[in-house]
Amino acid sequence: MAVEVRVKVGNVIRNRTVGNRFNIIIGLIVVILVFALINFWFSMKIMASIRAYVNGEGLWSKAQKESVNYLVKYSSSHDEADYRKFKEFLEVPQGDRQARLELDKSQPDMAVARQGFIQGGNNPKDVDNLIFLYQHFRSISYMKSAVNIWQRGDVDIARLVADGGRVHAAVLSGQPTQPLLGDIYATDSHVTGLEDDFSGTLGAGGRSIATTLTELTVLITTVLGALTIAIAVLVALATIQLDKAKTEFVSLASHQLRTPLTTIAWYAEALLASKSKRSARERKQLQELYDASQKATQLVGDLLSVSRLELGAITSEPRLVDLPKLVKAVLKIQQPAIRDKQLQVILDIGDLPRLKLDPRLLSVVLQNLLANSVKYTPKHGHITISVKARKSSVILSVADDGMGIPRDEQSQIFSKLYRASNAQQADDKNTGLGLYVAKAMIGKLHGSIWFESEEGRGSTFYVKLPI
Ligand code: ADP
Repeated sequence: MAVEVRVKVGNVIRNRTVGNRFNIIIGLIVVILVFALINFWFSMKIMASIRAYVNGEGLWSKAQKESVNYLVKYSSSHDEADYRKFKEFLEVPQGDRQARLELDKSQPDMAVARQGFIQGGNNPKDVDNLIFLYQHFRSISYMKSAVNIWQRGDVDIARLVADGGRVHAAVLSGQPTQPLLGDIYATDSHVTGLEDDFSGTLGAGGRSIATTLTELTVLITTVLGALTIAIAVLVALATIQLDKAKTEFVSLASHQLRTPLTTIAWYAEALLASKSKRSARERKQLQELYDASQKATQLVGDLLSVSRLELGAITSEPRLVDLPKLVKAVLKIQQPAIRDKQLQVILDIGDLPRLKLDPRLLSVVLQNLLANSVKYTPKHGHITISVKARKSSVILSVADDGMGIPRDEQSQIFSKLYRASNAQQADDKNTGLGLYVAKAMIGKLHGSIWFESEEGRGSTFYVKLPI
């Protein structure tokens, strides 16, 4: 089942364009961020609401205590100002009650509820939070218990109002108030118990909500995060597959192009060499046909090498190699171009040990280095190919007195498709693949490649091969 789902998701992803796939990942990340923001906002709102209730409860208790104090004072002072203060303080819990009763209605009048909470001494900025928590969490266990305690507190407040009325009546009629004080103290101590219960319940509710929110956040973030990572992995795999398929296509296409190109080059060369009479124009056309086919063969060869390298299809098959013979064979391939530019080539080959390496790989490297020297050296220039043995290696170098490579571009010369600015100006037909291929092949031969060059004076490329 899980495998089936993975395959299906994999197919859905594979059938999309790369841009589309990234959109999926970005979409998921946006979903996670939006969720995190909403979650943060929601948690903050709940915590702020709970804090507002704790605050409100403090105001409620303080007012209730003050009202009792003034009532007791009034019972002995008989000062109407004390009685008014008693009633004034009682307005605080009565305001809260008004808000609660309004919010309990099926269609509450928010202005009434708001006014009630403000009468309860709450900060107007907290009122929305008080309403929010009441409306959305009224039936959640902790809130339910807290509201229940609050309702019982209101019964006590009503009792205090009645006690106050009786004390007031006794004062006005000149009767003793002392016997009434017992009831007032009893109500007061009952309310104190309720107040403790109320804040305890709210505290426990706050802690429980905080734990639930944390667990929920961790759970949802983990699920969404895992989903994003899974899709990113599938996208990466699909992209690698696509890349591989493209490389395979280039490899196949280059391979298929090689045979017809060789045929064209071969017939063009044969026609050029034949003794038949041709006009100068025809000869020029044949020469151009031959040059173009050579260039195309070189390009197709480079493309094939790059794609095979990237597919990991190039392996080294070492055997004993006659190095001077190999160098001369490579030189022969470049001979027509060398002749054309009337370049002077010096071969400097010392005593060499027999080397064991893959000759195909080394020929590709040498062909690229020599072809570059020929390309980037003007007419009548000089090229020196030297092969010398050292203690544990053979150093092969191709030096020319051509255009050289600008200093600030030298670090990029082995990068795929990179061409120095002066080379681009000189001709725009080359690809910048040769040295990339050469370096990769030298890696397969466990050797190293580097160069020295000065713009306008020439370049020397070195290859070091272990013996
Ligand atoms: P390409 O010759 O097809 O442009 P290469 O990868 O063989 O690509 O070479 C990369 C770049 O290095 C060339 O475009 C050129 O700027 C520079 N380069 C290589 N060999 C030489 C050289 N012998 N003389 C001057 N510049 C060179």
